[in-house]
Parts: sequence; C-alpha cells; structure tokens
Amino acid sequence: MAKLEFRETSHRRLNPLTGEWTLVSPHRMQRPWQGKREAVAAPPALEHDPACYLCAGNLRASGARNPNYEHTFVFDNDFAALAPNAPPDRIEDGLLVAEGESGRCRVLCFSPRHDLTLAGMKVADIERVVDAWVEETINLGSLPDIAAVQIFENRGEIMGCSNPHPHGQIWATRHLPNELEKETHRQTEYLLHHGRVLLIDYLEQELALGERIVFANAHFVVLVPFWAIWPFETMILPRRRIGGFDEMRAPEKKALAAALPELTRRYDRLFDVSFPYSMGFHQKPSGGAVHAEWQMHAHFYPPLLRSATVKKFMVGFEMLGSPQRDLTPEAAAERLRDAAA
Ligand SMILES: [Zn+2]
Ligand SMILES: [Zn+2]
Repeated sequence: MAKLEFRETSHRRLNPLTGEWTLVSPHRMQRPWQGKREAVAAPPALEHDPACYLCAGNLRASGARNPNYEHTFVFDNDFAALAPNAPPDRIEDGLLVAEGESGRCRVLCFSPRHDLTLAGMKVADIERVVDAWVEETINLGSLPDIAAVQIFENRGEIMGCSNPHPHGQIWATRHLPNELEKETHRQTEYLLHHGRVLLIDYLEQELALGERIVFANAHFVVLVPFWAIWPFETMILPRRRIGGFDEMRAPEKKALAAALPELTRRYDRLFDVSFPYSMGFHQKPSGGAVHAEWQMHAHFYPPLLRSATVKKFMVGFEMLGSPQRDLTPEAAAERLRDAAA
C-alpha cells in the first residue's frame, strides 16, 4: 500500500461490500464539543415488569397473552410493517415506479428476564437465541414469497427502542432490501473476477495486519472494518465460509453465542453505560440457491461518539455527500481491545 498517513491526513476509504466511500478526517479529533448531549437511561431494575408487553404471561396490545416462556419466545409483530398477502403488482408510470411488497415481521424475546441484555446473558442462553435465528431463517426462507430474512436488534432509547426487554426482530421480505442487494452484487462480482470470496480474502488481510482486530475465537473474528462509518462500528466474521444461519455447525453456533456478549460487554465498558446500537446479520438470499459468493456476517452500528451522552449525528455532508468520521477505525479497535475484562 502506498504511504498515506492515516492518523494525520484526510482520506476516504472504500467499502468493498457496497462500493461506497467513507471520509476519514483524523485531525478533527481535537475539536471541542458544544453539541447535543443525550440523557443516560437508567438500567431496568425489575426482572419481570407487569407493564412490559414482552415479559412472560403479559397481555399485548393485540389482546394476545404471552406464554410463560422460560428461554426464547418468537411471535408475529402486532404492528407488522409487512403483511403476507400484498399483491405483487408493479406499476411503472414514467419515472414513478412502485411494486407491491409482502413479508413477515417477527419479534424474538431473547430471555424472559426483563433486566438483562446480551452482555449480561449466559452463553448457553444466547445459544438458544442463535438456534431461534437458525429456525426462523429456515422457516421464513422456505416460504414461496420470501427472498431475504433480515435479523436485527435495536438496543437503547437513543436508537428508538423504548422497551429495554432484551429482544430482536426478524423481517422477511419478497424483495432483497437495499443493503442485501448491494452486498450480493459486490460479492458476486468479486467471486467472478477473483474466483474467491470477498469477505474471506478481507479477513485474511485483516488477520495478517492485526490493527483492526478486536478479538477472535475458534470460529469468529470481531473487527472494526477498514471502512467503518460509525465511531465504534464492528463486524463479526466467520473464519470458514458460511452463507447463512442454515449452514452453521454446532461448534460455530456456540462460538457465535460466546462472541456476542464478549463484544457487547466491551461496548458497555467503553463509556461505562449500557451501550446502545443497531446490530444485524447479513446472510445469503433465501430460496435454496447455493450462493457461493456469500459470507454471512454481523454489523454492529453503535451511535455513541465520545461518551455516554455524546452521539454521532449523520447530518450535513453525511446526508448530502458521504459519511465522515474523525476517530480512525484503528484507534477505535484499540479502544475496544483495551475494554476487555
Ligand atoms: Zn419485559
Ligand atoms: Zn453486510
């Protein structure tokens, strides 16, 4: 690589998964902060909250009552953004293009304990969450009108999640959502031109350099991607090529279940707060095709910038031009390495 002083010079970095660029301005780290400060939400004190619509045995807005579940619990979202029966019609009227979109929206409670987060859950209990992700991927992915299964979690009020009960969502859609469409295209092109899998090559390069690695176990590596947008953005990458949850072997599920709380505990220690984030897994499109180009992975997008109360905003140049960051991904990885127990 040619000499470009990453720690001092403004530069932009390519995200090979999307083809998009991120602007890095390391010299701006010194500027004083006079912007908005967020309130820190107190962690929930109750193991079971009678007012929580996700706690075991409670009534939901739909009138349905949650069972007295002991581990995980999955149900159809009472206010689903997608319904199974939308007609597949497409209209094209000049530049006005639209098409019917159908799908399923599911909610997955990670634990009956209202006061826990992934960071505080036992690995054996998170294994049951991973099992639920596998099951939902297979079940939803086998439906005839489903092209993609998107698993995600919004954590914390700052991310628009008002309920602290540990839970995630699964949205299955008839079409590939934007991000999956871009990543499928870029990974296909890479396989075509190099005969290799993009994220396998990327991981090999990162492991050789080491500077953006946060930690690793036998089957997964956690790193701050070279092209990260969010200050403490990370990815979880499998060492072996795994297209999706349906291809995971038992020891890999265990290793993923171990990596998740390890990462989220590091986040919590960073600013001594229950760290907010949006996270999710990208996996191959459903429908039974092999998708040899695809490597499944998780993205963690946490919004906090320099303390528990200072959040990064995606505004101005970032909305109109490209995302921009001050803290280098290498410095962020070092901070996350130092946040080990
Ligand atoms: Zn609850
Ligand atoms: Zn992705």
